[in-house]
Amino acid sequence: ALYRAKADGRNTFHFFEQGMDSRLRARRALDLDLRNAMAAGEFELYYQPVITARSSTVSGFEALMRWHHPERGMVSPAEFIPMAEEIGLIVPLGEWALLQACTEAANWPEDLSIAVNLSPVQFKSRNLVPAVVNALESSGLAASRLELEITESVLLQESEINLATLHQLRELGVRISMDDFGTGYSSLGYLRQFPFDKIKIDQSFIKELADNPQDAAIVRAVTGLGISLGMTITAEGVETEVQFERLRLEGCTEVQGYLFSPPRTASALGPFLTGRELT
Ligand code: C2E
Ligand code: CA
Ligand code: CA
Ligand code: CA
Repeated sequence: ALYRAKADGRNTFHFFEQGMDSRLRARRALDLDLRNAMAAGEFELYYQPVITARSSTVSGFEALMRWHHPERGMVSPAEFIPMAEEIGLIVPLGEWALLQACTEAANWPEDLSIAVNLSPVQFKSRNLVPAVVNALESSGLAASRLELEITESVLLQESEINLATLHQLRELGVRISMDDFGTGYSSLGYLRQFPFDKIKIDQSFIKELADNPQDAAIVRAVTGLGISLGMTITAEGVETEVQFERLRLEGCTEVQGYLFSPPRTASALGPFLTGRELT
């Protein structure tokens, strides 16, 4: 493509095409690497503490996936999860994460929960419910300790079937959270379709909470609404004491963010499993 561009005298496209080409090639290479990454054992789950706002104690952890690429180092899930969804790898990868997270959580004190993120593609695969049953049975984890985080795109596509899946999961005794609340088309509408146990307010609303009255009003309204519907309200991406104070005042149930801890390896959770009152 490069040579032809030159021959045509379209020199202005030269750099553009070259850039596209190398980016595309890099992506293809990463794509190939991703297909082998599971067998190579390059994935790891990190765990981020979730804090009960009122008592400042740990209520559980969210599992977040990490890919240790042999050459590129850590690749962000924001980059590799969409690729894994495209090539269908997300189904086995998601099942691995479920089992891994439940197995890890079975070692923790019994009042601590574990939240696992689910891709909409896992819902479509129709193997989700058996995979959850298998993870619970193999790990021995009580279903009530498992929370599954979904985004509203699950209810956007194939909503009838996916809704039935959500009800089946609920019947197992696991809890269902709506992740990234407020970022999609009709977050409110989805609350009428399914009785979520928890709403996770997207971190974009938390970022400027202290200086932006609009964001503060939205957080207040969502919290009031969720609480009156009997849901737990979790604020994500809490980075400052001021944000934490504000969220506590607004009645948020739980908080999660770098202020308390970044996601950590399973072996680094010690301080959060014992002596769980934060100072
Ligand atoms: P998410 O589920 O909304 O996860 C929250 C993201 O915010 C995580 O990014 C977390 O590390 C980051 N975070 C936590 N506290 C703070 C904070 O105080 N400030 C800021 N700026 N960020 C904070 P991460 O780990 O890079 O994951 C990105 C996304 O990738 C997740 O967003 C989730 O959608 C997806 N993901 C991660 N692990 C899995 C998985 O096992 N399965 C699926 N399907 N998706 C996953
Ligand atoms: Ca999440
Ligand atoms: Ca989120
Ligand atoms: Ca997110």
